[in-house]
Amino acid sequence: MYYLTQMFECEVCGNKYRLDRGSQLCECNEPLKLEDFFGEIKNDDWVMQRYREFLPFEVSEDYTLGEGGTPLTKAERISRSSSVDLFLKNETVNPTWSFKDRGTVIDLQRVVKIGYDLVSTVSTGNMAASVSAYCTHVGIDCVVLVPSDISDKKLDQISVYAPHIIKVDGDYGDLYYEVQKNEEIYSSISNSPFRIEGYKTISFEIAEEIEPDYVMIPTSSGGLFRGVMKGFTELKKSQLIDEVPTPISVQAEGCSPIYRAYKNGKKEIERWSAPETLAEAISNPYPPGGNSVLRLLKRFDGICEAVSDDEILSAQKDAAREGIFCQPSSAVGVAALKKLREKDEIERGSKVVAVITGSGLKTDKNPVNSTSMMARSLEDIGSTLTKIK
Ligand SMILES: *Cc1c(COP(=O)(O)O)cnc(C)c1O
Ligand SMILES: [Zn+2]
Repeated sequence: MYYLTQMFECEVCGNKYRLDRGSQLCECNEPLKLEDFFGEIKNDDWVMQRYREFLPFEVSEDYTLGEGGTPLTKAERISRSSSVDLFLKNETVNPTWSFKDRGTVIDLQRVVKIGYDLVSTVSTGNMAASVSAYCTHVGIDCVVLVPSDISDKKLDQISVYAPHIIKVDGDYGDLYYEVQKNEEIYSSISNSPFRIEGYKTISFEIAEEIEPDYVMIPTSSGGLFRGVMKGFTELKKSQLIDEVPTPISVQAEGCSPIYRAYKNGKKEIERWSAPETLAEAISNPYPPGGNSVLRLLKRFDGICEAVSDDEILSAQKDAAREGIFCQPSSAVGVAALKKLREKDEIERGSKVVAVITGSGLKTDKNPVNSTSMMARSLEDIGSTLTKIK
């Protein structure tokens, strides 16, 4: 098993660490990674079996809640209006309604392999829900650290899976690094190397259906971006695709440290001082994978774009018209497509995939698309229907 022979390697300084290391960052604060895998796609239905040659260990059925295997649907109207072929990779249908589940299933099995019995996560939304759900399913204790001013609505969604919840008064960006200093607790964070191994399966699934020219990736900590690109890289190295698609990292204007560095030609991100966007799931002000995303953009000649809250809401409506209810953070790819077509940075007729990262049911920041009418009595329904017709 690869797992026994591999080491973590720092992307930047090359330092190596044993795989049972609890912290998932190098001492230089850059992300750790596993080497690239090569292989073949197997003839199994279950995602984690189908792509097992690319995964660091055999994923056991004891851990799964049925993640992955999500639909790739053609967005006909958006395609027509922007003169491209746009496909939506609908990650809203995962067990806890976001792509995070693809990473959690692998990360948790690793937790058990290396002998931790307590898992922590720093998150206000999708990550916390995913980690809590898988922890309770497997029977591992879980601590969720949230900012003290978190809304009840968000807590509802997390607390249904019964993790320990700690509200923290303090800088939420620093918390991420602080938690990882505790060696007794495994911190399951969005940029962790084993999560990324799970996120790769998004690329494998896409590549089995189409060969896109561009992939639009909502980016916060950078884990999803790193995972999708590692996935396509491994497919290319395994000669299963001809070209790695051009990656497009998309951020919200109100919190876009990676975009700012990209635009200014910098190699390193700087902390965003005051995030302000309704795309909360992608508002990490100091993304631990930020520099890594910048390096990948350079290597693959990628594009980084930022979109405003208005553009996001409008894109969320566009996605809804295609039948998909996503959260604002997940609509940024659709929003960026419009902008990049206007600037002609994406050519007419291109094949584009937007990863729709999570469900709209998770937030209360959604656009209202209908007005409702009032029927005063049952008798009144007839005439109200006639008005619609
Ligand atoms: C976590 C998340 C992202 C961003 O993923 P990162 O790995 O943090 O870059 C995007 N959209 C949604 C809905 C998410 O939950
Ligand atoms: Zn390092």
